[in-house]
Amino acid sequence: SPVVALRGVRKAFPTGTLALDGLDLSVNRGEFLSLVGPSGCGKSTALRLIAGLATPSAGAVVWGDDGGATRAPAPGDLGVVFQEPTLMPWATVAGNVRLPLRLTRRRSRLHGDEAEARVAAAIARVGLDGFAAAYPRELSGGMKMRAAIARALVTDPQLLLMDEPFAALDEITRFRLDNALSGLWQGLGTTVVFVTHSVFEAVYLSTRIVVMTPRPGRVAADVTIDAPFPRG
Ligand code: ADP
Ligand code: ADP
Repeated sequence: SPVVALRGVRKAFPTGTLALDGLDLSVNRGEFLSLVGPSGCGKSTALRLIAGLATPSAGAVVWGDDGGATRAPAPGDLGVVFQEPTLMPWATVAGNVRLPLRLTRRRSRLHGDEAEARVAAAIARVGLDGFAAAYPRELSGGMKMRAAIARALVTDPQLLLMDEPFAALDEITRFRLDNALSGLWQGLGTTVVFVTHSVFEAVYLSTRIVVMTPRPGRVAADVTIDAPFPRG
């Protein structure tokens, strides 16, 4: 069943750039969907539209299974990770990971101890045990990205959106994070939309790969991978 769908989406910027034109994309529950295509084809724009960080010029972003409702997701339903880990430098790893819970606590009614347990679990899940009290400046690039992933997952989002999250990392760190992410996805059952320039990464991680046309972006190919790439 679809989590979210882009229906006939067009996105024109005030500069005159037409980034997307007639993009139809339905994201199914539980899948790991990679979005690939030439630079500038509108991958980030598509992700930002799903995240609610931009609005379509025409067409719609539709949430849930029903035909027309455009109910926006509640805070905590979405986790977003960008290429820059964007950690707050004045807060520790635990402080950064706790932030989304502070923003959604009223809805989820988490008590202090429960919130702390969730923060600790998220930090452990990404392999940062022992670094809860560290500040971002003390962490490597890969560890900062792990903290950003923990922050995105701490609210148990239905949908995790990732925009070239590992593109700035060296190849070994990137491969380690690919494996960590794959394990997280298999363990959590979260739906993932992953933007990448790397076809290798897309094939390694995904259950579905959507290839976009050059700008203006539309779907050029939509490939479902029945047997995901085996992991060691
Ligand atoms: P991709 O992620 O596939 O590289 P983007 O979605 O970042 O592509 O960009 C698609 C096109 O829209 C590019 O030509 C980009 O320069 C342009 N673009 C993206 N954001 C803006 C913006 N805020 N204002 C104007 N043009 C933009
Ligand atoms: P990404 O690396 O994720 O594709 P970009 O570097 O294309 O991101 O864009 C970074 C930011 O700059 C985004 O907020 C995007 O909307 C904006 N942006 C991108 N291209 C343009 C552009 N041509 N004019 C104005 N803003 C842009």
